[in-house]
Amino acid sequence: MWQLLKNVSIFSPEPSAETDVLLVDSRIAAIGKGLTLPSYAKGEVIEGHGYKLVPGFIDAHVHICGGGGEAGPASRTPEIQLSQVTRAGTTTVVGLLGTDAISRSVSELLVKAQALADEGLTTFIYSGAYQVPTRTLLPTLREDLVLIDKVIGAGEIAISDHRSGQPQLAELEHLTAEARVGGMLGGKAGIVHLHLGEGKRGLEPVWTILNQTEIPITQFVPTHINRTYALLEQGVEFLKAGGHIDLTAGCDDFPLELQVPAVLSMLHKRELLNHQVTVSSDGNGSMPIYNDAGVLVGMGVGSVDVLWRDVREAVVNYGLPLEAGLRVLTSNVATVLRLSRKGMIKEGYDADLVLLDEELQVNTVWAKGKLMVKDKEPIVFGTFEQKKDMLN
Ligand code: ZN
Repeated sequence: MWQLLKNVSIFSPEPSAETDVLLVDSRIAAIGKGLTLPSYAKGEVIEGHGYKLVPGFIDAHVHICGGGGEAGPASRTPEIQLSQVTRAGTTTVVGLLGTDAISRSVSELLVKAQALADEGLTTFIYSGAYQVPTRTLLPTLREDLVLIDKVIGAGEIAISDHRSGQPQLAELEHLTAEARVGGMLGGKAGIVHLHLGEGKRGLEPVWTILNQTEIPITQFVPTHINRTYALLEQGVEFLKAGGHIDLTAGCDDFPLELQVPAVLSMLHKRELLNHQVTVSSDGNGSMPIYNDAGVLVGMGVGSVDVLWRDVREAVVNYGLPLEAGLRVLTSNVATVLRLSRKGMIKEGYDADLVLLDEELQVNTVWAKGKLMVKDKEPIVFGTFEQKKDMLN
């Protein structure tokens, strides 16, 4: 299948002049002005003038097989569906488990990741859950990383949180070593995706491990760094020391300064928005809904839509350059997670692409060359999706 996009502005994420992009099957085959379809090729030409072509988003924190459960069995969230992901502009997801690794399992997570891959996305998983010693598929984390393709790291391992397994430092050290060596042997990133809670200790356990072992700072990817002022401050220090940080989008009930648009803008102004900063959605986890008096009145499900919504907001309302916004959910994520052929628009890369309209809204989405969303509407649905459910 050949598809030729004509006269489109590319943000690879770096901006370049209007040009043409040729997709052949699942890959970007050529980029350049004046491209035409060869006479023997069966294909389609798409006019892209007025649109911006950007890499498909990579969301490295999604509870794809459901999560939640913290307010009892009825608060367990359902599995995510294909079009919920694609309409967000997301073409690659990393699935993970959270608090509940009793009624959820890493095998359930792996099979759900495979299901989404069969439906057209690119998927990976972290082995583990909040608790330590953590849950794995094979007897050790190291084996999961070496022997199971989709496993690219450990997560989400909870620290400084009342819901964590309160791991001893030695346990956390051991887990990190397993992830590191497993990653090396398996040719993976082998990162430890750390869930940070509201606890005062914050990143302190990580610093202790870094000080007393040879493990490099880049082995950790602490997430939810924008959850409190104190943690954000610690995250900035971590970043300055050469560490990665991951921000969580969709925190609408947080003070404005802690929400992704403001944090990205702050980091950019301080020249700290480097390739070690990423944003993820925490999509499909449970979201407690409180009334004005702070009383829990219901449970919702976190949406993966907030990823681009928040980064777009940083661009539109905080003046963040578009390319700087795009990096945190494309090329930076691919670099941190060592995902090959992902996160950029380049010849030979996967044809994971999004067309943004003049308002920078997601208009068209291709996942590995397959058209998934057209004129803002999903056109491909998951096996058990009812189209009418997805359109409201
Ligand atoms: Zn978390």
